[in-house]
Amino acid sequence: MLEESEARQRILDRIEPGPVIWLPLGLARDNRTAQDIRGIADFPEFDNSSMDGYAVRAAEATGGATLSVFPEPQPAGLNRNLELPPNSAIRIFTGAPVPSGADAVIMQEDVDRKDDSITIREPVVPGENIRRRGGDVCAGQKILSEGDRLTPARLALLASQGIEEVPIHMRPMVHVVSTGDELVQPGEYRMPGQIYDSNGVLLKSSVEQLGGLAEQIHLEDNPEIMRHALAILCEVSDFVVIAGGVSVGERDFVKEVLEALGVETDFWRVKIKPGKPFLFGQHPNGCCIFGLPGNPVSAFVTFQIFVAPALKKRLGQSVSTTNFTKLLGLADEEIVNRGDRPHYLRAIEDEGRIYLSGTQQSHAIFGLSKANCLVRLEADQTIKKGEQVFGIRI
Ligand code: AMP
Ligand code: MG
Repeated sequence: MLEESEARQRILDRIEPGPVIWLPLGLARDNRTAQDIRGIADFPEFDNSSMDGYAVRAAEATGGATLSVFPEPQPAGLNRNLELPPNSAIRIFTGAPVPSGADAVIMQEDVDRKDDSITIREPVVPGENIRRRGGDVCAGQKILSEGDRLTPARLALLASQGIEEVPIHMRPMVHVVSTGDELVQPGEYRMPGQIYDSNGVLLKSSVEQLGGLAEQIHLEDNPEIMRHALAILCEVSDFVVIAGGVSVGERDFVKEVLEALGVETDFWRVKIKPGKPFLFGQHPNGCCIFGLPGNPVSAFVTFQIFVAPALKKRLGQSVSTTNFTKLLGLADEEIVNRGDRPHYLRAIEDEGRIYLSGTQQSHAIFGLSKANCLVRLEADQTIKKGEQVFGIRI
């Protein structure tokens, strides 16, 4: 059986970031930039005032000095190319270009204005209340790195540079397939013994949360139907994520159906709990196939540790394979794995303390719904109360 990290590496080795397209800023939020982006212009582009007040020479604007106010004010939005005469002040507004000759702006609250002159109450030092050209960004400077998430602030940064479109990796099309004769959709008539399909929405929304496009379908445990449906899905998808039917039960047909379709199984079974029967393969056309265990918690965990990194890489996000888990906090109780496989446990991190979340059985969705992280334990590992806990946030 494959180690978890090797399984993840083998998946990532087969995945390249998707084709690059350009999106208007207004549609790009939360995507990743597909390229480094450099500043086009200095920002600010010209020295300007950070206050409403008077542009002065600091050496002349000493406490108690009186300066005559230049007849023309300098508003924001129009550079009047004014020049400050000696012993004068030019009325100026926030964002307005600083007239030549001036080296400071004195706040209007710090002067007494009388007709065409001002008397200085609080002196200024050179440079005060002036935002210098290039003080924030210089033309040519790298302002975003490939893979950076386009947060509202980063979109604003691009807008401030006059950039209207940004390169991103196209969202992959992912089909999510729930398999099982026992499943009905929420809202459908349910016969005794049938259960509702929870993996469909679990996996579809997980794909969408990461930025992929997802559609959800359900297939019966019927190899003929599966073969027809999966043949089409492999043609129209970048990824197919199948939940259930990948284990060794008599009604688990996914593996043989995929093989009949020419899918090359890269690996099946990983040394991890939950999620041992995880399968990864690739169709000759490049479509990646992920076979997840049917139990919802197992499906969720294997999605997080194998499918999510693949989706992230496809979307241009950097994925660390060496430091997959991060420090989550300190254990608030003893956490034990007596098994011979590494184990991911559902947990809640609250102000740096980690508690387990409900029963850890792999059908139990309530505990999963309350968890905000998955704690990873090595085989036979015990974490004592107060010790560091590593895992992933969910
Ligand atoms: P399987 O991997 O197909 O053997 O399924 C393992 C367990 O997960 C069984 O108890 C299934 O009923 C359950 N299961 C499979 N698929 C789903 C699903 N989409 N939603 C909820 N439970 C499921
Ligand atoms: Mg099944």
